[in-house]
This record gives sequence, C-alpha cells and structure tokens, in this order.
Amino acid sequence: MIDKRSDQVISTLLLKVQPTFANLLIELKKHFQEKGVECKYICGTRTYAEQDALYAKGRTAPGAIVTKARGGESNHNFGIAVDVGLFLPDGRYLEDTPFYRDVGKIVATFPTLEWGGNWKFVDEPHIQWKTGLTLAEMRERVAAKKSVA
Ligand SMILES: [Zn+2]
Repeated sequence: MIDKRSDQVISTLLLKVQPTFANLLIELKKHFQEKGVECKYICGTRTYAEQDALYAKGRTAPGAIVTKARGGESNHNFGIAVDVGLFLPDGRYLEDTPFYRDVGKIVATFPTLEWGGNWKFVDEPHIQWKTGLTLAEMRERVAAKKSVA
C-alpha cells in the first residue's frame, strides 16, 4: 500500500520509471514495517527554477545551505530520482540512522537503480534510475525534448 505523499512523489517522475520506483517502495515498506519504521518517498522531481531557489538558500536567501546543485545540476531535475525518508510511528523524521543502509541493500536488488550511499559524496536517502548519461547529456536531451530514461 503506497501512502499519499509517496504516490505524489512518484507522479512527478518520468512515466517509464514510475513502476520500478513503486515496486521498490513496496519492498522498502515491507522491510521497514518489521522494524517499526515507516518509509516514504519525500522528494521527487524539481524544476530548474525550484532547484535554483533551493540553491539560493544559505547564499542569497535566508537559511542554511542545502545543496551544491543549481538548476540542471541535480538528478532531481530530470524525473529520475527520489529521496527516501524514514519515520518513527509518531511521525518523527529519522535524519541519521543506520537504517538508510538497509535502503541501499534493497536498491541493489533492482538492476536499473542506483543508490546515493555508494557515491563519493555520500547521499544515503537518494535513489535514482541509471541513465548512463552525464548531467550535461541529460540537459541536452531535455533541451531537445528527448527523454533521459
Ligand atoms: Zn536526492
């Protein structure tokens, strides 16, 4: 059973990748239910403008820096990436927990997906479709109205 927030996140992704992310979430939920933890998708696709606004935080806008990516520099700008959130039953968000490594193990069973926990700049909540393309190549495809997946 997919919750409302996750369903909304999945709907922001490219149609081609939606079923895989839905299946992954079902596996994640099954795994975490036994541990008394709730797993949801909390972030999906952001437009370039939304990404620029996020980039401004802590630089030209108030708040702390939350990203090093401007519009077109994040995998979230191409409809192929989600971030997972883990929550306690009372709704509290688990920011830093070894449980995110469980996410990596389950993502590893999906050959078309990759996990941000394996990157040089570790990003454990992050999961994305393997496009085999660089960010620059994805930007070109989007500009040419071609799909990246
Ligand atoms: Zn992410």
